[in-house]
Parts: sequence; structure tokens; C-alpha cells
Amino acid sequence: MTVLIKNVSLFDGINDTLRTDCCIQIDNGLITAISAQPNPDCRYEQVIDAAGFTVIPGLIDAHTHIAFSDTFQALDRMTAEEVAVRSTVIAREMIERGFTTVRDVGSNCYGLKQSIDAGFVPGPRIYPSYGALSQTCGHADYRQNRAQRSDFNRGLEDSSMMRQGHLILADGVPQCLKRTRDQIFMGASQIKIFGGGGASSLFDPLDTIQYTREELRAIVETVSNYGSYVCSHIHAGPAMKIAIEEGVKSLEHATFMDDEIARQCLDHEVWMVPQYATAEKIAQRQIPLDSEILYQKTERVGKGLLRQAELVEKYGLKCAFGTDLIGTPEVHARQNDEFSARKRFFGSFRGLKQATSEAGQLLKLSGLLDPYAEGALGVLCDGAYADLLLVAGNPVADLDILADADNIKMVIKGGNVIKDIRPAQF
Ligand SMILES: [Zn+2]
Repeated sequence: MTVLIKNVSLFDGINDTLRTDCCIQIDNGLITAISAQPNPDCRYEQVIDAAGFTVIPGLIDAHTHIAFSDTFQALDRMTAEEVAVRSTVIAREMIERGFTTVRDVGSNCYGLKQSIDAGFVPGPRIYPSYGALSQTCGHADYRQNRAQRSDFNRGLEDSSMMRQGHLILADGVPQCLKRTRDQIFMGASQIKIFGGGGASSLFDPLDTIQYTREELRAIVETVSNYGSYVCSHIHAGPAMKIAIEEGVKSLEHATFMDDEIARQCLDHEVWMVPQYATAEKIAQRQIPLDSEILYQKTERVGKGLLRQAELVEKYGLKCAFGTDLIGTPEVHARQNDEFSARKRFFGSFRGLKQATSEAGQLLKLSGLLDPYAEGALGVLCDGAYADLLLVAGNPVADLDILADADNIKMVIKGGNVIKDIRPAQF
């Protein structure tokens, strides 16, 4: 199918000036030409008039848990079918908010991804990690109390989150290798691990280092052999140093950073994916968590991220947009709040690049495991996927515009219209 979008004011994901009065031609889901005039020899099956809107690349959220539609404790009481059915609602609303691609960093979203890619349900392209790997007593050891000792269950952890493959325990090099390869077998595009303590867990203080160098090295080598990379949940500085030295390429949260770690990140071309708005909202008690301990841990994270944002700016670190929202559809609806936080810390243009061309670069580190290798993502140019948004106003000048998803009037993914709330004259 050939589609023409005309009267386009274009943000291409890279340059801060809009290209005006151009046309975008789309063939079979990819952009084949961006030109001043339509091709006179072409018979377009659909023509979309973008006059009055800014056309930008589809947004990328590089840190989601798309199958998690409630708090951890509520999820732990659900069957796999409930989790899967509910995830279709999260996915549909996510693409309607403008996110045409996400990287999922831990949730068993296999059925969801298959169903979206096959066109059964609307949703973003998913770069899945599937089960996120944790050591025993690490951040994703999701047992709720000490009566759930794994030796009572002959190694089967007593948590449905873990049994359903959202969170996976692996200890020692052989188990780390096996579980990593299991996720790659399922189609993971990168491997997610927990390299240090976390805020949403009960038994691991934030400042802990998780996984030994030997275990980390084994996981990194296995994934590198498949041409992809490891991303690690991480807050503590010492844990970050070890992860960087052992070859982890994407630090999720990367909270308690200092100048030395920032320079290490530059030297090793390491990405970071912090979540400024989510930490803020939790600290303000606007997002439900399961216990008071978790709120206190997250408040510390929120303060740490203020300093971290200064270092990202000072050193020009590679930083992608991510939100890490876990909860009901009402909680996920805060996804676009992160744009206001990015504007505050980095300005509108850089904040928008973090959710478009820069996040696209990060996702493409999946190399041989890239599930969408046919085109570029996060940019609008010849050969890119035709994932784009028609926005009321210019978010390059004011990123707050994207904080309100109602300003995203049209969402197109792979040349197909997913959402269209333009006024009637269109
Ligand atoms: Zn997360």
C-alpha cells in the first residue's frame, strides 16, 4: 500500500529546525521518499493532509514493563491469562499516547508481542527482554516472605510473577548462561539483569552489588556472541562501576552517579535510561506502592536523580527516554509526564531527541537480535519505518506539548493509522 502525507512540517528526529512544505511517501510500511512534491507517476491509495500539524517520529519508551497492569502484589495473584489480557489494554493505550516502539526491560510479554506484530491487537513494536535475570535475594527475587524458601519447593519459587517467567532467578555461571540462552530462544532482543539493589523490593538494600563479576561476564559474553547487549537495573555507584567494566551497555536508572562514573560511561559508550518523573510522582505518593519501605527507598532515588541529571548534562552522556511505570492503566497514563521532566533537565529539543533518534540508536544495539531490522526507528528519513505522529503545536520548541497526549492528533505505525482525533475538517 502506498500512502502520501502532504503539507508536512517535519521534525526528523535529529535536526532542531523543521523542514516545511514537504511530502512523505510510504510504501509497505517504510518511508521511501521525503520530497518537495508528490511523485506525479505514483497512484497513492491514501492521502493524509498534515497542514497545521508538526510531524514527528513515533515516540520510543526505552524502559517499560508492558505486561504489568497492576502493583506487584496484585500481579502476583493473577493467572497468566489475566496478565496477558490486561496487557493488551496497556499496549493499546500506550500507542495512543504516541509510543510506537518500546523496549521492555522485564515482563513476559511474548503473547502480547506476537499478537501485536500479527495485527490482532494494536500496540507498539516491542524490543523484549522477557524474563529479567536476578540472583537469589536480588531485586527480582520476588518472594514476599521468608516462608517462601525455595528449598521447601524443590527450587520452584512460590511467586506467580516468577513462575510465569516475568522475573527469573539464576545463580552461578552455568545457570546464568542457561537462563540467558532461554530468553534469547524466546526472542529476547537484549538481556535485562538486576545488577544492584532496587526500590520496589523488600529484601535487598538499594546499595547492594548484585551478581559477581564472573556471573556478569558470562551473561555479557553470551549475549555479545548473539550480537546484542545487556541492560542492567542499577542504582548504587560501586555496582555501576563493575557493570561498566564488565561490558554492560545500558544502565537502567543509573541513580547514584559521580564524576568518575560519568567519565567511565563516556569512555565505554554506555547508555543510561533514568526515570525522572516516575521517581518524582512516587515520592509525592501519587503512584501506589505495596509498602512504606518502598516509598522511602524511592524518595532516596528521586533525590539521587537530581544530581545524576546534572552529570548527564555536564558530560553529554548518552541518555534515552524511559518511564518504568508499573500499575493500573491510570498509572501508565502518566507516561507522558516524563516529557515535562526532560524539558526541565535538558530542554525541549534534547528531551525530544532522547525519545526519538537517541532511543532509536540504543534499541539498534540489539544487532543480530533486532526484531525490527528492516528500517530505522526514531527518525524520519528514507528507509525508516513509517512510524510517525501528527502533533498540534511544535514540541521541538515546547516539549510540554507531548505531556498531554490529546495534542497527539494522529498516530501512524508502519504506514497504518492507529489513532485519528483530528478536527472534523480533515
Ligand atoms: Zn524497571
